[in-house]
Parts: sequence; C-alpha cells; structure tokens
Amino acid sequence: TTTRTPLMAGNWKMNLDHLQATHTVQKLAWTLKDGKHDYAAVEVVVVPPFTDLRSVQTLVDADKLQVKYGAQDVSAHTEGAYTGEISPVMLAKLGVSYVVVGHSERRQYHGEDDATVSAKAKSAFGQGLVPIICVGEGLDVRKAGEQVPFTLAQVDGAFEGLSAEQAAQAVVAYEPVWAIGTGEVATPDDAQEVCGAIRGRLAELYSAEVADAVRVLYGGSVKSGNVASIMAQPDVDGALVGGASLDPEEFARIARYQ
Ligand code: PEP
Repeated sequence: TTTRTPLMAGNWKMNLDHLQATHTVQKLAWTLKDGKHDYAAVEVVVVPPFTDLRSVQTLVDADKLQVKYGAQDVSAHTEGAYTGEISPVMLAKLGVSYVVVGHSERRQYHGEDDATVSAKAKSAFGQGLVPIICVGEGLDVRKAGEQVPFTLAQVDGAFEGLSAEQAAQAVVAYEPVWAIGTGEVATPDDAQEVCGAIRGRLAELYSAEVADAVRVLYGGSVKSGNVASIMAQPDVDGALVGGASLDPEEFARIARYQ
C-alpha cells in the first residue's frame, strides 16, 4: 500500500501578465476552498514566471491559501557571476516549495542535458526545494518504440549523485515531448508503461522504499476530460499541466480528478 499524496502542478510557462497572474492564483485558491468539493487529499501547486513569485507569496501568506508554488527553473549555482540566473537561495527566501528542472523546453531551447538537470536538482535540494525532474521522449523515439530505455537513461542521468534521502523526496514528471502542447495526450496505458518503468528503475538505483515514496507525474495535454483515466493508473501520482493550468477553474477541475 502506498501513501503518496497526489500532486497537481500547473506550469504557466511564459504566460499571463502580472495582473492576470495574481488574479489566477486567487481565483484558483478561492475555488479550492469554496466548500463545494474536497481537495484535502491533493497537493496543488502553481508554477508562475519568476517575476510573479513575490506577489504569489504575498497572496498565499496573507490568506493561508491551500496552494503551494514553484519556479520553472533554478541555477545550478548558489551565487556569483551568472548573469540572468536565479539562485535556489533566492527562491527559498520567496517561500518556493518546488522547482521544475529539465523541462523539455529547457532541454530543447537552452541545451540542458542530463548533467545540467542533475546539477540543478542537487542545487534545489541544497536549499530545501524539491525538484520536479522532467523526462520523456520525442516523437522519433516513440515511433521507434524506444520510449522506455530513452526515458530511463534520462532518469539515470538526473538522479546521478542524489542520495537515497533526496531521491525519496524527488518528483519525476514523465512528459512525452510529442504530447506537450499538442492536444495529443498519451493513452493511460502509455503513461503507465513509462511511469511504472521509472519507478522500477528507482527501485534498482535505490530501494523499493525509495521507489514507493517518489511521486511520478504525467504531463502532456492533460485536461479535466482526460485526467481521471490517467490518474487511475497505479504508477501515476499526479500531473504536470501546462496550457490547462492557465484557467483556474479548469485547473481546479483537474485537481479534483475523481
Ligand atoms: C508542460 O509543458 O509541462 C505541459 C504538460 O504542457 P501542456 O499541458 O500544455 O501539454
């Protein structure tokens, strides 16, 4: 029996102006506590652009909102001559709980490789932030039927050097690149195949206990209409949601996926 708390994280990417951002987080929080539905068992996280984090912190603190927040990236360094980078120390001071690392858009447009992802995951843990480590294959790999070995190689790279204690707290997001922002969602069986393989690999790398503790999310065109069947899979513990998280009512429906 597992006790993993479902995690629903909304990655806003580079969207919403500041007024929309503050409105979205308030609307989401109000929807979560309007008493019409029970969200107690789910952890709900918004992942806004860096420039919104201070305001989100203020809103969440002021009203004790049932929302946590994360950042979309983090520097592998804590301080120094790294123009444009954001330190995990800075994020920790803003009350950030999670940091997305290795999103496919960072891998694709910013040349992040598994070593970068591993360094960023360590950097996050160093300041008490939990990394959401993104992995997943592109369409060519999927067509070749190589999605499991490809994704497990990314898992091996990302967890390189992480202790068992860190690994147990980490979150892995399986996001097949061909399903991100395309409207093409993986089938529940496809999601389970790779999410289950990820957990199996963590058992080999660490232990059954660590594998059992790690939350594995699915990401890629998740919507309220398809989330339930994906969440019904035994090794899927939540979702990393892009586009659909920009609408707070839709994201709340996703968060109460049952
Ligand atoms: C993402 O980029 O993490 C994502 C899952 O995007 P979307 O939900 O828009 O496919």
